[in-house]
Amino acid sequence: MERFYRRRIEQVRRRLAGAGADALLLTHLTNILYLCGFSGSAGALLVEPSCVSLFTDGRYILQSREEATGVRVRISRGPLLGAVGQHLRKMGRARVAYEPSRLSVAQKSELGRAAGRKIRWVGLANVVEDLRAVKDAEEIARIGEAGRLASEVFAEILPLVKPGMRELELAAEVEYRMRRKGAAGAAFETIVASGARAALPHARPTEKRLGKNELVVLDLGAILAHYCCDLTRTVYVGRAPARVRRWYEAVCQAQVAAREALRVGVAAGTVDAAARRALKGFRLEHRFVHSTGHGLGLEVHEEPRLARGQTRLVQAGNVVTLEPGVYVEGVGGIRIEDDVVVLADRTEVLTSAPREFLEL
Ligand code: ZN
Ligand code: ZN
Repeated sequence: MERFYRRRIEQVRRRLAGAGADALLLTHLTNILYLCGFSGSAGALLVEPSCVSLFTDGRYILQSREEATGVRVRISRGPLLGAVGQHLRKMGRARVAYEPSRLSVAQKSELGRAAGRKIRWVGLANVVEDLRAVKDAEEIARIGEAGRLASEVFAEILPLVKPGMRELELAAEVEYRMRRKGAAGAAFETIVASGARAALPHARPTEKRLGKNELVVLDLGAILAHYCCDLTRTVYVGRAPARVRRWYEAVCQAQVAAREALRVGVAAGTVDAAARRALKGFRLEHRFVHSTGHGLGLEVHEEPRLARGQTRLVQAGNVVTLEPGVYVEGVGGIRIEDDVVVLADRTEVLTSAPREFLEL
């Protein structure tokens, strides 16, 4: 991994030089993990032209020594940002870039006070997020492992999807099994939404018991070796009426259309438009109330976003979800979500749970 970190730091330094800054301060923990391997819950990373410093506190003396690669670790006894500011103060006159969306107003003024007036602050957004959007082979393999794990868990819990089971129990079974298989945990709160509740795209599981003749949406994701996956399947408890089968067919076709549109060089918004066009053929486009997909990696929502009007171009190495859905108030909803990697000349699906309509 060491050479990965070195390459990533070099890429950050190039951006830094391009922006005319003398240093970049990173405060988003996921970006710090990506650049040096440190996974603690408190840290700030300062990238300068000739050195990289990781600021953390006494709880992480051992862990930072074990995990952090290519950095000088500075253990601070007081507030972390105060220590960073003190360090910057010694630089004299300098332009320091920071991540505007990763620092609160209070943190920014604390930093400013500690660093003093000679430091000029420049907001520089998405430097590391842009790098993270393009995965290397090792990262793709890890997301693939997580995707396999989630697909296995889905197969295991299918026999439990039956009338009388509570949504919360089912969510607990999902998360328990993910951990048993080595996941660090769930990548997000597992969604189990049954009956009319399935019309809520981000439903929280409740005490509600699954009933007969209901749709059940199961949306689960695992974190494995720091990387996330995200998988949704929708099943029916009982025999589904014709209109529900038609909705399911429409969502399937929307996902296929999105996958066909997904390739290197197209705008991300084009992929979203392809899914919407397919649903329009079923006159269901107004029932699709969210975007078609999102990037996936160290975090469960990353660049690129496959949403309306997104002009960012799809790149080889992007890993995205394709998750069209149809939601009908008072009745239920259907979503099918898979994780897909974009390669130079094709795409590959990393999740393998069955996509045909299951009536249980
Ligand atoms: Zn999901
Ligand atoms: Zn998702």
